Amino acid sequence: SRSLILITGDQLSLDLGLLQTTGDDDVVALCEVAEEGRYVPHHPQKIAMMLSAMRHFAATLRDKGYRVHYSALDDPDNAHGLLAEAERLAQAYDCSRIVTTRPGEWRLLDAMERRQGGIPWQWVEDDRFYCTPGEFGDWLSHRRQPRMEGFYRLMRRRTGLLMEGDEPMGGQWNFDKDNRRPLPQHYTLPKPPRHTVDDLTREVLTLVEEHFDEHFGRLDGFHWPVTRRQALVDLRHFIDHLLPSFGDVQDAISDSDPFLFHSRLSAPMNLGLLSPREVCEAAETAYLEGHAPINAVEGFIRQILGWREYVRGIYWTRMPDYKGYNALQARRGLPHFYWSGDTGMRCLSRAIGMTRDNAYAHHIQRLMVTGNFALLCDVSPEALCDWYLAVYADACEWVELPNTLGMVLHADGGLMGSKPYCASGKYIDRMSDHCRHCRYDVKKTLGEDACPFNSLYWDFLERHADTLASNPRMKLIYGSLRRMSDDKRSAMRRQATSFLDNLACEPSYGQGPHR
Ligand code: FAD
Ligand code: SF4
Repeated sequence: SRSLILITGDQLSLDLGLLQTTGDDDVVALCEVAEEGRYVPHHPQKIAMMLSAMRHFAATLRDKGYRVHYSALDDPDNAHGLLAEAERLAQAYDCSRIVTTRPGEWRLLDAMERRQGGIPWQWVEDDRFYCTPGEFGDWLSHRRQPRMEGFYRLMRRRTGLLMEGDEPMGGQWNFDKDNRRPLPQHYTLPKPPRHTVDDLTREVLTLVEEHFDEHFGRLDGFHWPVTRRQALVDLRHFIDHLLPSFGDVQDAISDSDPFLFHSRLSAPMNLGLLSPREVCEAAETAYLEGHAPINAVEGFIRQILGWREYVRGIYWTRMPDYKGYNALQARRGLPHFYWSGDTGMRCLSRAIGMTRDNAYAHHIQRLMVTGNFALLCDVSPEALCDWYLAVYADACEWVELPNTLGMVLHADGGLMGSKPYCASGKYIDRMSDHCRHCRYDVKKTLGEDACPFNSLYWDFLERHADTLASNPRMKLIYGSLRRMSDDKRSAMRRQATSFLDNLACEPSYGQGPHR
């Protein structure tokens, strides 16, 4: 009997397990549906990348001999919901079941499993990841205090990546302490590859301009890879030109360079244009051939083999409850300037401006600038997650949610990180060159021109002392707070309160006051 093989927009890999078992009579369906494009206001570059990549992938599948149905956004019969559209096609092609690969969102998997009465739905595991949610769940259930580092070592042993027998190459598992350097005075960045915009992509860009014009983000300067070939060019560029310096300045932020030595491979990996295995193996080869140092290669591989797999494991083992966690009871709506970049705080206006222009900000901008500010202001997990899910080309819930809710907002009570990543302006000043362009003075905590991060930081610690002061990793900082005079503490509290009272935000979330 015939199956409808549903391929979602983040499963664009020819080596996807499901495609290996697809029969000649089966119909492979790819569906553009309005529902997925609009449930948060995705950045136009993200929508364009995904639609163009899907259309190119459908063409590749046809070339390979698959029988393909492609539902375009403007097809008159399009049901505009992923499940409804797949069921419509299954009926039209007389299929007896719909088979798909585990989707990237719990919401979709749950909806498939609840579908009853009509055509049966089946799904198979996504074999492009190193670790299945089941395996991760087993590992998790044997840990009292799960930490990424333990999981990462297990994955190194299991894959043999950067291993010499049972020992880590270079004699250490982790070279992170070498990777926290601030931005050097002088460095040169090679020009990133520009991909040619073919007719198919041009058509998509026009469509996105027409339909998603009101979404946050610029479409001009679109630079994302939309085919496997283009993604491979980006991978080569990274390995040859950026990886050797990736480690040294991994945590640095530049006022002018949005990408620095980062790979920008998250989006093509998340879509399926590149496999995490080939990316990690290319990095390992660069080390073995003496082209890149161990601190860079280990640091890079840890992000993919460690963090990327870890957050996915947390997502699938903890959903759906995970989405409701709010350990710090944060209820503020999103500050309006997250949609405009219109703030005198230079670090924030640059991180948001770069996001608007490129659908990209690197990890430290997400974690320590936009994330840190939201944490210090008690922005609700729901509000912040919707924003992160909308604005980056690489945003998918399975990776965005644990990073935002867990890592940035500490809303899971310490499952993702043993302490909140809260920081004052001093951290941003050390790691970036923003402060010298800012109207605020990073050295000041009080007064009209004092950097807002400073009073917000101390006020955050005061507000959440009940939850955080007993955390062993926060002991030192609470010690400093306690040693301050009462006068200083109340002046800082007043300064932070006045700032927060004047911060224009979207309506607050949930019950009760947030401060
Ligand atoms: P590089 O710095 O070159 O890193 C290499 C690769 O490692 C990335 O491509 C990515 O696949 C992986 N990686 C690095 N850090 C993480 C991490 N913390 N979690 C998972 N994978 C990681 N990443 C996404 O892919 N999608 C998201 O929706 C997303 N949302 C995030 C939201 C917040 C608030 C934060 C703090 C981080 C988020 N990340 C997300 C993780 C990380 O910031 C991005 O993967 C990275 O910035 C992508 O840029 P890059 O490819 O140049 O990364
Ligand atoms: Fe950001 Fe404060 Fe530095 Fe301004 S002074 S760039 S607000 S950290």
